[in-house]
Amino acid sequence: MILHIDMDAFFAAIEQRDNPKLRNKPIIVAGNSKRSVVSTASYEARQFGIHSAMPVFQAKQKCPQVIIVPGNRHKYAAESKRIMEVISGFSPLVEQASIDEAYVDVKGCEKLFGPPEAMAEKIRGAIFNKIFLTCSIGIAPVKFLAKIASDMDKPNGITLIPKHKMEAFIADLPIEKVPGIGKQAMKKMAVLQILTLGDINKYDITLLNKKFGKMGTRLYQLAHGIDENRVETQYSRKSISSETTLSRDISDYKSASNVLLALSQRVGRDLRKKKMICRNVSIKIKFSDFTQITRSKKNDSWICSSAAIFNEALSLYKKVILKKKIRLLGLGVSHLSDQNTPVQMELLWHPEGKAKKQWESVDMAVDSIEEKFGSNMVKKASLNIPKQGEKKMSPITCMKVIIKGRVQGVFFRVETQKAARGFNLTGYVKNCPNGSVEAVFQGDEAGVKKMLEWCHTGPPVARVDHVLPESTKLPQGCDTFDIRY
Ligand SMILES: [Mg+2]
Repeated sequence: MILHIDMDAFFAAIEQRDNPKLRNKPIIVAGNSKRSVVSTASYEARQFGIHSAMPVFQAKQKCPQVIIVPGNRHKYAAESKRIMEVISGFSPLVEQASIDEAYVDVKGCEKLFGPPEAMAEKIRGAIFNKIFLTCSIGIAPVKFLAKIASDMDKPNGITLIPKHKMEAFIADLPIEKVPGIGKQAMKKMAVLQILTLGDINKYDITLLNKKFGKMGTRLYQLAHGIDENRVETQYSRKSISSETTLSRDISDYKSASNVLLALSQRVGRDLRKKKMICRNVSIKIKFSDFTQITRSKKNDSWICSSAAIFNEALSLYKKVILKKKIRLLGLGVSHLSDQNTPVQMELLWHPEGKAKKQWESVDMAVDSIEEKFGSNMVKKASLNIPKQGEKKMSPITCMKVIIKGRVQGVFFRVETQKAARGFNLTGYVKNCPNGSVEAVFQGDEAGVKKMLEWCHTGPPVARVDHVLPESTKLPQGCDTFDIRY
């Protein structure tokens, strides 16, 4: 369940708390110029029909004795911070939605605070005891309903919409109460005779999309009690990304899609390791002239499989018109959420649901193999397609090489890195304190062999006299060939 906590007449309540002369009186917080509008009205002022965003002169007409108090943003921001601290004492899953509103996911809090209603009661009490302000709280299985509920019993009220009453509530919910419905949309609603959110169910999704654009899908979902927006903590706003500077500039679709596939697997693995799911996929392309672009898309549903991430990335890539060669490709996911946050799967409308699930279980298996044996053990078949005329890949081997007997400079390391990437090897090269150089190459047998040869035959700056290969294992997390210091 989700709580939506909304402070009652926030700015006005702070002013009344701090100045006893203002208590129980109609006050508005507003500027004092002719064009000023009401920022917040106290409940006493609201009885005269005054509300936020009303021009001050109009408020004065409605209630001549209204007291105008100039606002103090700093004070309100400081109070807001104190309130959020109180709320954070109850759950780590808190999303501050505005200066006086927050969402709380109560998952896992039952043991400590009891059922959601009891927890709401405790939060309301704690805020009042510490801050001396009242708030109203809505409790519902999804975010948008929690927000609507918090507005139903103001001030100082707690409203619960339990899961089993959701359907009936939606059926009767006036459409104008649904967040995000503007005036234009309301006109279309009237034409379609949609008076309540439940009325949306009279129409199919194709028509809704045609009439309302992207909002169509959202409306369809809301009418079915689905709200994919989750409580987003500061942590979940972060992103996971990975990028690769290519060993040579590319411009062909196949190479680019192969790189994106590898990046999707890497990012997908990190995402799943953190037990997160995502909604946003973005790609970054740096061109040969070092200019760069990013493209990003918010997905309709939550994903965590590498295949789904790859599909999104590829569709973004396909829309880019290439005029220059690519030297770097990056891929990131953001808008993250906890995997375990309950989604109403039984209601979830997703045509590819089954395929998605299957991919996720494939990913889990791959992840656990890589966990045990290191990355690059498993690759999707399309990454392994041999280029024309090339032999089939031989088994992956890993070789540690100690290089002695030369002064090793930065050129050596860079040249080694270039060569290793050219042979499709991962691993690293680093200088050792005793003057030797240690390099670990991992890749297919042929590549490692070529690399060992290269040590003797490469450019003079990188040529070495003694190479001591030994079998080894590459530490985890080496997806590319790095220079280490
Ligand atoms: Mg409020």
